[in-house]
Formats: sequence, C-alpha cells, structure tokens
Amino acid sequence: MLADKNATANIDGLNQKFLFRENHDGRTSIEYVGDVSLEGLGNRILTDINVDGLCERIYQGTDSTDPLPMPFGDYCSYLADHYWDDDKIVMPIHKDCGNCEYRATQEDEQAGRTSGFKECWSSQLDWTDQDFEKPSIFDIWDFRRKPNMIEQGIFHYNELKPFHIGPDAEDISPPLIRQGRQWLQVTRTRDNDPLPFVDIDGLKEEMSHWVFPLHMIDFETSTLAIPFYKGMKPYETVAFQFSHHTIQEDGTITHFGEFINVERGFFPNFEFVRKLRNELTQDHGSVFRYASHENTVLNHILAQLQDSEERDKQELIDFIKIITHLKDDKGKIVRKGERDMIDLLDVVKKHYWHPSMGGSNSLKVVLPAILNSSTHIQKKYSKPIYGMNSNIRSHNYNDGWIWIQRDDNGEVTNPYKLLPPIFDDLDQETVEEFHTEDQIADGGAAMTAYGMIQFAEMSKGERDSIIKGLLNYCELDTLAMVLFIDYISHEIKTT
Ligand code: SF4
Repeated sequence: MLADKNATANIDGLNQKFLFRENHDGRTSIEYVGDVSLEGLGNRILTDINVDGLCERIYQGTDSTDPLPMPFGDYCSYLADHYWDDDKIVMPIHKDCGNCEYRATQEDEQAGRTSGFKECWSSQLDWTDQDFEKPSIFDIWDFRRKPNMIEQGIFHYNELKPFHIGPDAEDISPPLIRQGRQWLQVTRTRDNDPLPFVDIDGLKEEMSHWVFPLHMIDFETSTLAIPFYKGMKPYETVAFQFSHHTIQEDGTITHFGEFINVERGFFPNFEFVRKLRNELTQDHGSVFRYASHENTVLNHILAQLQDSEERDKQELIDFIKIITHLKDDKGKIVRKGERDMIDLLDVVKKHYWHPSMGGSNSLKVVLPAILNSSTHIQKKYSKPIYGMNSNIRSHNYNDGWIWIQRDDNGEVTNPYKLLPPIFDDLDQETVEEFHTEDQIADGGAAMTAYGMIQFAEMSKGERDSIIKGLLNYCELDTLAMVLFIDYISHEIKTT
C-alpha cells in the first residue's frame, strides 16, 4: 500500500487521527483518535500496487546486478552460512563504492566503531591510513565521473589530469563553471594553497544589480504523508517557518522578522505567505535565498492557493509571482517575477571557494570558512553586537551574543555548534523513529521536529524547547547569508 499523491482527502483533520505514542515498555505505537472507521476516514488516500512481478524477480534472483545473482532462498542460505561460520564475504571493489554505506565518520571511529569501507579498501588495495587521509575523488564537488575513475584505479588528486575531470576543466577563469570549479578544488588542494578564491570583478558585477535593502530569507518545510485538510493530497508541502534578515544601504543589519506555526493539525502555508508578503512588500529591495528550495516551496503554495477559497488568494498569488520564477519540464523559464529571488548559492558557486569548503557549498560550510579567514568579520563579530536590544537586532538571541568564539586550536568554532541540539530533552529513540534517510540533510532536523510536534506525545516543556531550537537555527541560517554578503562587500571595498 502506498500513499496515492493523486488522491484527495475529503475530511478535515485526517492527520490528527493517528498519534505516535511511546508505551511504558519503551516501545512505540500509534494511537487512533476519534472515528477511524472507513466512513470516518473519508476517501482512500492509500492505493494498492501489485508488486508480484518484482517479488518474482527477487525470488528468482534476477532483480539486481549483484556479482553473485542467485535465487532468494539460496542467497539467504549463503548469507546465513557465512554468518554462522563468521566468514567474511569479500566483495570486489566496484564503481559504486563511492556511495558505500559502511563508511564511518571521524567521530564514529573515535568512538571505536569500524569502517566497512576502509576494511574493503585496505584489504584489496593495500591502502594505509595516509591513503584514506589524502584528498581523493570522493571529495570533489559534484564529480559525476567518480565511477569511471574507480574503474580506472584513479583515486587521489595527484593521479588526476584535467581530462579526467572533463574537456573544460582548465577553464578556471571566473565566473567558474562546474568543471573549472572542480579542477580549481583539485589543484589548489594539491598545492596546499591556503588562500580563498574570490572573484572580485564577478562579485562586483553581481552586486551592481542588487537593490537595497537586501532581504535574506530561509524556509523550513515538511511533507507529511497524511493530508491536514479536505481538498489536500498526501505529501503536500507544509511551510511552517521562515526567518528574514535585512541589510540597509548604510550597512545596518536587522533580524527583521520570522514566522513559526507548528500548531497540531493547523495547515500553516497561507498564514506563512501572508506574513512573508507583509514583510517583503514594505520596499522593493532584492530578496535572497540559498539554493532553489524557497522558489519551489512558493510555487507549491501558489498551486495550493489556486485550489483554495482564501479571501485574499489573488493578492498572495500575485506576490508569489513577483518573487519567484517557474520552469517547464525542459528547464526553460516560463515565468519570471520582477523581484525574482537571487540565489546566493549560485553566487558562491560562480565566484567563491575556500580550501576548507572542500567539495561542499553548503552554507554550514561556507560560514566557518568566512569566519576563519576574514579579519573584518572576526573583528566585527567578536564584539557583543548581536542580540534582542543590541546593534544588530535579533528575535531569539540574548543581548551581547558573540559569534566569534575560538576552540583550543584557535580556530573559530562553527556557530551552529554553539547552539544546543534541537532535541536535547527528548529521548533519542523517539527522535530516531522520525528520521528517514532522506531527511538527514540540511533542514532535516527541523523537518523531524515538525513531524514530532504534530504526531508524537510530548510535554509542553519539550515542545517549547524544540520551538526555541528551531527559531535559533533558522535565524542563524539567514544570518549566515548576511555574513557572506558582509564579507564580500568588504572584500570588494578593500581590494
Ligand atoms: S567499499 Fe563498500 S560498497 Fe565497496 S565493496 Fe566494500 S562494502 Fe561494498
């Protein structure tokens, strides 16, 4: 049975009929609330899919490209026998090892856990600890030729030639293209060059189109399988939180506004966009997002509004159209608003790279890179200028908050690590029940937190503490964008 994305709920509050509860024995179960008869649940939102053919392929052993294809029963016996004899099954290194799921983080290894990946590669390729530490093809940003490299036995940066990256690898003139950025990462890392790549002219050109005051926004969203309201479908996007910072032309920075609504059973999207509209229509300044998420979410809400009966739906739709764009199936832009949001991630990819970022462009990696390399940012943010009544006004941080704090090695601590974890007070097993693989990414914690508040049993204290955590994290997300702009503005002025 799968959730049918085309089915429409015809009752309100379906998602609140199933609550997640922890029993006395520590196990979890679902509590039914109210009428859960077939009539009480309304339209079917689940659909049955016939998987006989797939099961048959699994039974026959023809479902995978496993080097040892065999019928399912035989395969179970094969695994059981090896397990019983404690006999390791040696798999040859193959092109998909880059996605090996048996890797261990540094913290895992320090905690005494072993890495299946390292075991395989050291036994089959004689790799030593040093080989694992050397920068390798696995670290290169968006490197799609990884499987080919593994097949050719090319793993480390010193074995790579430009043609391995692609025909345009040596084009590292700004703005950076994908292969140029990859080659820049390889060569600068190989040469131990500690300096960042900052394309001043390109950044100047980008900034010449920006209109003050600048608005940095970040959304937290979730997709819940069970619809909130009648008329909605499974897995519709729920936008429950945003944060909004502004920078004025004179450099004044403010945490201008925010929104959060995690109330159980309340569908927050229209309130969310109403509040965003109020905050962004007070001027005509440029609006910034980091990656495409905010554009995608607003286009989803636009479609939801079209099907809704909200009294101000036309104003909200018009507003969304002004700050977004829409692409067709072929990726061609078919609608572009006059204040279409500017993607700062795109600006980073084209004009900025720091060795400590390696192959990641996540804001959570860009932020510590800037904090550790810019004396301007260090000087400014090591003073207590951030807080509810401080120079830089905040909604969630106490007065005198200092962002520059150093560890024992003198490195600036990643600001995200200065915050308490969102789930500090909750039992880990309950948290893990909500974690599915695709949620473990940026924003995954917020999504999990939202799901927990909707469906899990928790005290008011736990709920309040999660909300506080969400507010702190989201404010930091937009502050990180502010710091990037503060950094590049200063670089442009002083270069
Ligand atoms: S490294 Fe990982 S993916 Fe590759 S063979 Fe070993 S266990 Fe399998």
